[in-house]
Amino acid sequence: MTAGSGDKVQLTFPLAPEPDAIAREAGRMLFAGEVAFLKGVVAMAGMPSADRIEVCFAGRSNVGKSSLINAVAGRRALARASNTPGRTQEINFFTAADRHYLVDLPGYGFAEAPLPVVERWQKLLKAYLAGRQTLRRTFVLIDARHGVKEVDEEILTLLDKSAVTFQAVLTKTDKLREAALDRTLDQVRGALRKHPAAYPDIVMTSAQTGAGVEVLRAIIAGLE
Ligand code: GDP
Repeated sequence: MTAGSGDKVQLTFPLAPEPDAIAREAGRMLFAGEVAFLKGVVAMAGMPSADRIEVCFAGRSNVGKSSLINAVAGRRALARASNTPGRTQEINFFTAADRHYLVDLPGYGFAEAPLPVVERWQKLLKAYLAGRQTLRRTFVLIDARHGVKEVDEEILTLLDKSAVTFQAVLTKTDKLREAALDRTLDQVRGALRKHPAAYPDIVMTSAQTGAGVEVLRAIIAGLE
């Protein structure tokens, strides 16, 4: 391994730092106003115009994505789990303070999803990731109990190919004790090392306790 300090950060994948007071306030402000559902999109043609900063959330179904988006948005039922296999898979757009788009990607990894559904979703996802100029970051949610699974690797590889920076976000951290969390972190770090598009900091969250929610808000508000 070479010695540059940038490389070093990349190799260790530290936890995201607590935001300072200014960053925290910027995050609070961004989500203090209305966060609203704009539309569900099933084809590139339906995307809203790319006129503001955008972040998206990806993760296996049941990873806790809806719960975390709701926590970040400060709304109880903004995003809903729509993880019925075979159901129309939409990319859902939400607006925050009319300045940002939050994008909820369909949960992946249904063992029993019909092949045409999986293929349609992959095609749309590829087109979205490759073609969205204003997409600043993808948060890839990883269940703290499970770590990075094979099904996650597919999307991480796709993100590498699309050159979209992704940040790993561990969910449901309230369910684990510290030693178990450390084991998951080791596994996640090992997996991230193989992905050039991985952002160095990992965010630990719990929609249940609110842990990490302010960190995420501050990260989103700080993107340019
Ligand atoms: P999605 O399919 O990824 O949108 O997942 P959901 O947000 O619907 O959550 C899946 C399940 O995990 C639900 O039963 C949630 O109540 C539970 N869950 C989500 N986030 C948390 C969390 O932070 N802590 C705990 N303990 N449970 C959670």
